[in-house]
Amino acid sequence: MITRRDLLKTFCAVPFLAFLRRVVTAQDIVDFQQLKSGYAHRLKKILAAGELPYIDIESSCNSTKLDIDSIAKSMDRLNIGLMALSADIGRKQFERGVRFDNLSERLLANYPDRFIPVGNGGQPPALTSEDFLDAQEAAARKKQMMLLGELEFRHYPSPRQVKRGDTDRDVRMPIDGPTGHRVFSLSERSGMAFQIHYEIEDELLTPLEKMLGQHPKAKVIWCHLAQIRYIERASRYTPEYVAALIKRFPNLYFDTAFGDAASVYPPSNQRHARVWTASGSLKSEWRDLIVAYPKRFLSALDLGQDRLERIAEYDQKHRDFLKRLPTDTQHQVAYRSAWSLLFSEDFG
Ligand SMILES: [Zn+2]
Repeated sequence: MITRRDLLKTFCAVPFLAFLRRVVTAQDIVDFQQLKSGYAHRLKKILAAGELPYIDIESSCNSTKLDIDSIAKSMDRLNIGLMALSADIGRKQFERGVRFDNLSERLLANYPDRFIPVGNGGQPPALTSEDFLDAQEAAARKKQMMLLGELEFRHYPSPRQVKRGDTDRDVRMPIDGPTGHRVFSLSERSGMAFQIHYEIEDELLTPLEKMLGQHPKAKVIWCHLAQIRYIERASRYTPEYVAALIKRFPNLYFDTAFGDAASVYPPSNQRHARVWTASGSLKSEWRDLIVAYPKRFLSALDLGQDRLERIAEYDQKHRDFLKRLPTDTQHQVAYRSAWSLLFSEDFG
């Protein structure tokens, strides 16, 4: 027998799903308002179950090798609220002429309540090509994304690339050059945030400060807080320095995708996640900084194509970091900061 309660359940569930399926229109324009209510619904559902959802603001993949259903299932199992999963345009795709990868559209077609439409990750050869930025800008204008992907201005080879002997991503592009100005002003005009991968080196700090000063409305997420690969190159970067940047630049954010206490960067043989003590506790000066300015720090997993299947391990490491913060700071960093950045309003 169908009870009144069953009927109610059905009526409540069906229109909500039906309405979410309409978020991508025939013109490829994403309805941000509809997405927003789907996101809020999902976050609140996880909160109501007594779990802490978070918004992963920075993960990437190779869209041609992605198992979307498997990622979506993992998100449910791990209580991950939302993901800004961006497609990197790899060398092969680039050579085939791809300048904008519509992965977000595919993600939203089936899972509009958990993926944030995001631009593509910018690595060479894509980032240095004008038409890559043209394509990202066109997609931004058409409202196909809420934020731009991670753009690599200074990127040392990752530990895994070093192992493979792959130096493709030893990237050095001046942040105050033409590409930098173009990206910063795109953010200013569109109100959309963008992410930078920018290794921490003394000589790189002044050009970034100059850009932040020249483009005060650009919303910049500096990925990988306190990830210093060579400590001898980074004498100025301290919690006090980051606090000073936060005070000077109201639109500067940091994501908290960094390794665990034991993570070593092989080329320098140093433990590059500087927020940790040798014994694996969160250094009080970094914790105090995050507690003092929680609105400027964002959850992030930094999954990539070579580690998507390790999502549970990355989730566990990220939660291990979050749980060392006071409860209200955890909630701020986990999803409230990203919410405000995306929607210019408090989550509620
Ligand atoms: Zn990065």
